[in-house]
Amino acid sequence: MDNMNKLIPVSQNYIAFFLTFGCNLHCPYCINEHSESGAKKSGVKMMIAEDWILATNRFVLRGELPITLQGGEPTLHKGFYQIVSEVDKTIKMDLLTNMLFDVDEFIKRVPVWRFDRTAPYSPIRVSYHPGQNDIDDLKAKTLKLLEKGYKVGVFAIDHPDEEIKKNILKAELKCKEVGIDFRLKEFLGDWEGQLYGTYKYDGCVNRSIFKTCDCRTSEILVNPAGYIFRCHSDLYKNRTPIAHILDEDLQLGHLEQFRQCDYYGDCNPCDVKVKTNRFQIFGHTSVQIKNIRQRAININANCVKGRNL
Ligand code: SF4
Ligand code: SF4
Repeated sequence: MDNMNKLIPVSQNYIAFFLTFGCNLHCPYCINEHSESGAKKSGVKMMIAEDWILATNRFVLRGELPITLQGGEPTLHKGFYQIVSEVDKTIKMDLLTNMLFDVDEFIKRVPVWRFDRTAPYSPIRVSYHPGQNDIDDLKAKTLKLLEKGYKVGVFAIDHPDEEIKKNILKAELKCKEVGIDFRLKEFLGDWEGQLYGTYKYDGCVNRSIFKTCDCRTSEILVNPAGYIFRCHSDLYKNRTPIAHILDEDLQLGHLEQFRQCDYYGDCNPCDVKVKTNRFQIFGHTSVQIKNIRQRAININANCVKGRNL
């Protein structure tokens, strides 16, 4: 594979390595835990640290574009510390975590430069889940990491439930009074019969009427086995991977192509919501969809309710 093939195309705005779908929390809204056909239960074989390192070091990233390590809980991958310390220093990385890890071990084993880049949001993004992880624990760990020079912020979902909302507001106050960057993320998907989120395409997340369309992605989503998927719906359903990151002839330019999809209607809110891109410009969607049409064939969409955080 030559350098041209390894260069991430300009069209790609996000690269996510889902190191594991496993997690040590059990959020009731988690698609990993509760999907009947979801990724956690699909028997996806996890790639070892050496292979992640090999594949990652072949990438040539543009500017400040990072590779985001996420999951599940990415720190649960047995080779997490090996990956973050051995991947080439020129590769920028972000981390999405529930922060249940041992913070002293993290400080000992993760160089500060690994998650250090210029961005309008912190490269280490901790997710607070009311009733699951403890905000006082997150606050103490975050302060410890900030003191050591890591860039860390805490995020929570702007949940429509009044009690959860109150809990999150308290957490926000606790973080802000000690100078921790705390941000709210939009709630997406269904709650008590109402669909939340702003979606670009009509009926794309209705999960009842399925159509055929042509779709192209602006994100490189890699599952724990190393397969690349064009969207979160395909990723979590383990549906039609488009390549593998260890493929000798991996042609990243091919990711830009429109591909036929027969699962329009089962799109994941993350892929079709109108949002800000990595430059914080509003109006972006992760996928572009065109030629929406009647399905020629009848396929079991294998659809489930759920959302990804
Ligand atoms: S939502 Fe995140 S933290 Fe909660 S169970 Fe799922 S992966 Fe774990
Ligand atoms: S149309 Fe929806 S389900 Fe199909 S590839 Fe695009 S985002 Fe995924």
